[in-house]
Amino acid sequence: PPHMMRVDGGGNVRVVVRVRAFLPREIERRAECLISMDPITQMTTLHVPGDGDPANSRAKSRKVIEEKSFTFDSSFWSHNLKDRHYAHQEDVYNSLGEDFLDHNFEGYHTCIFAYGQTGSGKSYTMMGTHEQPGLIPRTCEDLFQRIEAAQNETPNISYHVRVSYFEVYNEHVRDLLVPVVPNQPPYYLKIRESPVEGPYVKDLTEVPVRNFREILRYMQAGDASRTTASTKMNDTSSRSHAVFTIMLKQIHHDMETDETTERSSRIRLVDLAGSERAKSTEATGARLREGSNINKSLTTLGRVIAALADPKTSRPGKRSRDIVPYRDSILTWLLKDSLGGNSKTAMIACIAPSDYEETLSTLRYADQAK
Ligand code: ADP
Repeated sequence: PPHMMRVDGGGNVRVVVRVRAFLPREIERRAECLISMDPITQMTTLHVPGDGDPANSRAKSRKVIEEKSFTFDSSFWSHNLKDRHYAHQEDVYNSLGEDFLDHNFEGYHTCIFAYGQTGSGKSYTMMGTHEQPGLIPRTCEDLFQRIEAAQNETPNISYHVRVSYFEVYNEHVRDLLVPVVPNQPPYYLKIRESPVEGPYVKDLTEVPVRNFREILRYMQAGDASRTTASTKMNDTSSRSHAVFTIMLKQIHHDMETDETTERSSRIRLVDLAGSERAKSTEATGARLREGSNINKSLTTLGRVIAALADPKTSRPGKRSRDIVPYRDSILTWLLKDSLGGNSKTAMIACIAPSDYEETLSTLRYADQAK
């Protein structure tokens, strides 16, 4: 379909939007779909709830409620399976993941974020389900398929893959590849800075993986660790950022000179904390602190991406990178190596079909990141 065409938003930042199908509870309350997407222009429109329903005229008269349109690099219509333009998991991968993996094999870093309120489809998009795998398993599968193909064609290049999986919760880093110890408080890792490598997580588990099956196992183990800890701590998974990292090293052996050269790249796939917590006004104490930390990392990320998308700040130059506020949150600080420079970044704004306020705030966030 035409809306799957790659539209490059200039530079190395892509911002796309995806709307999900109704959930059973939304069908039950006869929710109305407030989103439309134009497959040609890529324009996404958020409609006024209850438009045409006189019972809603009072809500409409409040000035804030009006039809709003936004244009992003791509719009993924995953609302109604029967539609010709329905965007499957595969379509999302073909449009973003494949292109980013090409970039990784050329030796550069990439970073893909899923942003949106809890329940908007972030983990469906990143992780997916067993039947409908998302971006992370598809990237892993494609990665090893390419490596296997390359090993036959270019035996003088060897490939080495490692993975790590951590979450940033309340400005602390937790290793998701270390099993959760029952009845123990979560163990947080320290952040260090090396003059060569930049910021990194000290003692973070990085495991070598040889094939798709192995990488899948670590992905699932990390997910399980995130869920186990989160049920203990009151569903923290929607309040933490999960960062899945694949490190690809290509060692090229020149048969004639007997010299070896290395190319290293990182693939970051990030399921962000639910954006709705960012502005909860009823929170107090620890919840408030946590909420403002989520707020801080999400707003900082938005500012970092906006700065990178802006040709004035992203131009390589002496001072330009100082303007990008990486240091203002743990997440952006840790991902600094994968944001900016020759790295490619994508933000997938996930939206629910019938939630005017939250969707508007997500679309605005994505819009300022362009
Ligand atoms: P989040 O990670 O943003 O909290 P989820 O990914 O868990 O949200 O999605 C919420 C629910 O919606 C899940 O049951 C998920 O399977 C379903 N869902 C999300 N996106 C889609 C989609 N594009 N198609 C079908 N079901 C979806």
